[in-house]
Amino acid sequence: MRFDLITIFPEFFASLLGHGVLRRALAGGLVVVEVHDLRGFAHDRHRTVDDRPFGGGEGMVLKPEPLAEAVESLGMAPKSERDPRRAQVILLSAQGARFTQAVARELAALERVVLLCGRYEGVDERVNELLCDRELSIGDYVLSGGELGAAVIVDATARLLPGVLGNEASSEFESFGVADAGPATCDAPPRSTYGAGGLLDYPHYTRPAEFRGMAVPQVLSQGDHAAIRRWRREQALAKTWRNRPDLLEGAELSVEDRAVLAKLKSRA
Ligand code: SAM
Repeated sequence: MRFDLITIFPEFFASLLGHGVLRRALAGGLVVVEVHDLRGFAHDRHRTVDDRPFGGGEGMVLKPEPLAEAVESLGMAPKSERDPRRAQVILLSAQGARFTQAVARELAALERVVLLCGRYEGVDERVNELLCDRELSIGDYVLSGGELGAAVIVDATARLLPGVLGNEASSEFESFGVADAGPATCDAPPRSTYGAGGLLDYPHYTRPAEFRGMAVPQVLSQGDHAAIRRWRREQALAKTWRNRPDLLEGAELSVEDRAVLAKLKSRA
């Protein structure tokens, strides 16, 4: 999969691309990320990419010509001829639809994604209409620029690509994961990250067994895989109910899950 990022701060992405999972994915050729300096598409010697807003008001707006030329230089088909199931141009915007794990899964199925990073008061709206397949927001707050949003999208999407995470299952069985098939038999050891099935992940522990007077939950060191599995599911349900009750609406819940939730609610 290939990402092209268009920005006035190309150096912003050095840290994202130089560390951890993404650095290894790039080195292994599993993902390609190209960063393009929007100022390279400016038309004057001051490399101007912004101008005052029509109608007056605060701040500056990114001009349409450099952005259009930057996208066209990438050999992307015009919007009317583009197949959005293969390639998309996406505008980062606080006014966009919310970027979620489900959207990350959608993007991970594409061959190519071009991300336009806004700055100042935003981007001339004609860029959105003429060039972009969608607008995405990474959350309900206003950032100074689209670069952080683009970094979030590249990271969350790339780690879903086959082979990027060492353990294929690990992107499936974590917070917001889809399927929760569970292990084939109850006697099998639980997967290191046991399915979340639309819930938040359960809490994780490692050594030491006791830290500042706090012991690791006993069930995790007793080798009873079925009990561990049950405990983890209960914890995932409890955490989701406490922190993100909205996720319970869309989660796959078994009869046992519903009983656990009923108990939690009755204790509250
Ligand atoms: N005037 C805009 C508004 O009120 O919606 C805010 C512009 S913001 C200061 C500058 C740029 O940051 C935007 O063009 C966009 O690219 C990016 N940005 C800001 N908030 C964002 C968010 N929540 N998600 C994604 N990008 C965001």
